Amino acid sequence: MEEKQGKPVEPKYVVLLGPPGAGKGTQAARLRENMDLPHIASGDLFREHLKNKTDLGLKANAFMERGELVPDDVTIAMVVDRLSRPDCVRGALLDGFPRTIAQAEALDRALAGDGRKIGVVPCITVPDEVLVERLSDRWLCPICGELYHVLFSPPRQPGVCDNDGGELYQRDDDKPETVRNRLAVYWEQTSPLIDHYTRRGILVEINGDQPIDMVQADLRAAVAGNPG
Ligand code: ADP
Ligand code: ADP
Repeated sequence: MEEKQGKPVEPKYVVLLGPPGAGKGTQAARLRENMDLPHIASGDLFREHLKNKTDLGLKANAFMERGELVPDDVTIAMVVDRLSRPDCVRGALLDGFPRTIAQAEALDRALAGDGRKIGVVPCITVPDEVLVERLSDRWLCPICGELYHVLFSPPRQPGVCDNDGGELYQRDDDKPETVRNRLAVYWEQTSPLIDHYTRRGILVEINGDQPIDMVQADLRAAVAGNPG
């Protein structure tokens, strides 16, 4: 455990739960600014592998294109490896992982192996029809990963990243038919995690259907209110 001014600092592991488009990535980027924890997004890790044309990236892409989950064994190994790096000893903001009960159990085992545990699970809730609207107009920067939305969070200049001038792009899996499948997969395979973490007393529901800054305020309160 790390020490700050002589006192041991408890590591903080936060799992951001919520359907595709709920605002996990948007909120994690802002939360990081005041928490200084690594943001571990399983979807970003897969996309990074694909960009580098690794076997894992090519295997994952076949599932991602259909809006299905990548098999648990591959996903768990990739995230557990990431969590074992030194920058995660003080905690991490997990975004998009776990997405199944098997992944949640594997995460507990990996953290418990080093005497660590999840502190809080904010679940960002947004009605399905709003999610479809958000994802169909989601744009990203290929350089810094900044997220934009044509109506709700537009860049200063259309198609260009405010941070670095990168040319914004849309994700292939944000097509309406793939989005519908991803939402169905969320309700079937991921939503059981809501009960799972509620029973453990660490789930906090966050209303994601409000302006980005208000969601962030609620999220900060949820994370600060939990000592874990
Ligand atoms: P979103 O922004 O919609 O929440 P992500 O970027 O988290 O989406 O994930 C994109 C895709 O990557 C998913 O549809 C799935 O195919 C794959 N993926 C990401 N995380 C996981 C996971 N924990 N388990 C299985 N597949 C995953
Ligand atoms: P997730 O990571 O959960 O899939 P994102 O953070 O990528 O979600 O957000 C999906 C889209 O919705 C992005 O285009 C983002 O700019 C937009 N968005 C995020 N939060 C809000 C919000 N509170 N209100 C309106 N649009 C939002």
